[in-house]
Amino acid sequence: MPLEHPPSSIATVKISRRGADRLKNGHVWVYRSDVVSADGVGPGALVSVRDERGKPMGTALYSTASQIAVRMISRDTVPDFLPLLRQRIMDAITYRERVAKDSDAYRVVFSEGDFLPGLIVDRYHDLLSLQIVNQAMDAKPVRDVVLTELTEKLKPAAIAERVDARVRELEQLPSRDSGLVQGEKSSTVITMNGVKFHYEALEGQKTGAFLDQRENYAAAAQYARGEALDVCCYQGGFALHLAPHCSNVTGVDSSLNALQIAEKNAALNRREIEWIEANAFDLLRDYAASGKQYDTIVLDPPAFAKSKKHLETALRGYKELNLRALKMLRPGGTLITCSCSFHVSPTDFLGVVTDSARDVHRAVRLLENRGQAKDHPTLLQVPETAYLKCLIMNVSY
Ligand code: SAH
Repeated sequence: MPLEHPPSSIATVKISRRGADRLKNGHVWVYRSDVVSADGVGPGALVSVRDERGKPMGTALYSTASQIAVRMISRDTVPDFLPLLRQRIMDAITYRERVAKDSDAYRVVFSEGDFLPGLIVDRYHDLLSLQIVNQAMDAKPVRDVVLTELTEKLKPAAIAERVDARVRELEQLPSRDSGLVQGEKSSTVITMNGVKFHYEALEGQKTGAFLDQRENYAAAAQYARGEALDVCCYQGGFALHLAPHCSNVTGVDSSLNALQIAEKNAALNRREIEWIEANAFDLLRDYAASGKQYDTIVLDPPAFAKSKKHLETALRGYKELNLRALKMLRPGGTLITCSCSFHVSPTDFLGVVTDSARDVHRAVRLLENRGQAKDHPTLLQVPETAYLKCLIMNVSY
């Protein structure tokens, strides 16, 4: 059951000097340890944020459960969240009309990146997929406005909600199943950069496909040629974009289920791609040892560092994959290497790839230093909104 009350009664939350400094620096979160008082503030309430001296710092959504207690929505006083919510959804849609090119699949709302903390909406052709990850966005009146606005502006055949049970538990929200919240249709076909993909709204990882890589697929295709290997290929995002430019393409993933959909996607685009179910580490070790060579290699592993304490292990993982891939590339070949771990900074990642090139004695030129697609906007002062790194490199000799 969604919360009964809209976050409209405006209570006050007082924050520490450290919290206030964070906001002054442009960040939009205040951690619970920096909340000085929040007397009687309910779950998901709209709150006026004040510093220790009582000076107003703006308006935020409050969570009684999350470590991130305060998520700012405005530097001004906002008496009622719902009109602002409507406006922000409209702005998010207008922004996509400008930046989401050559695709009928893109992120429509990206939480803090669209000044709507806790709300994620993806469009897949005629379907929308929705994720709600905090108390304020889960309130019934808020949900109602979100659904109404999306329906009016985008006219989807159906809207699915994807639920991450762990997130709901952490936010102390009542459990809820993933499912359709509107309409009856749950599968469709999307087209990005001229490549088609099957989409199932109620299956797959994340909200179904990796929309954040959309522009990187197109960029990678520009350099791809010869024999190509797509490591951690999932449902074939990179592999299918490389195929028109390469003599043959092999996709590798540890998930048989993902590869079955990848094969369906290949058929949909009339491409022949070899799919191998394997552990990327084992396969690359064996292939490198046996002297196998490629002209184009993509590395797009899952987030190895789910938290800061896994950073060292994550860096070792990236090093191993990049080292072997660099070893296997023919002179003139292209490496497209990605990291979606927020905790691995762009500098860390470039460092690992640089060390790998040194260790295998290859001369490598950086052609493109890329991030997530523009429909996943990043806020300059909120580093958490930037997580994807994609380097495209030329291995000279
Ligand atoms: N490149 C994909 C997204 C990759 S997501 C795209 O653009 O759509 C990461 C993928 O890595 C997932 O499909 C997951 O099944 C796979 N994976 C995770 N661990 C792996 C491992 N050790 N070996 C091979 N694949 C792995």
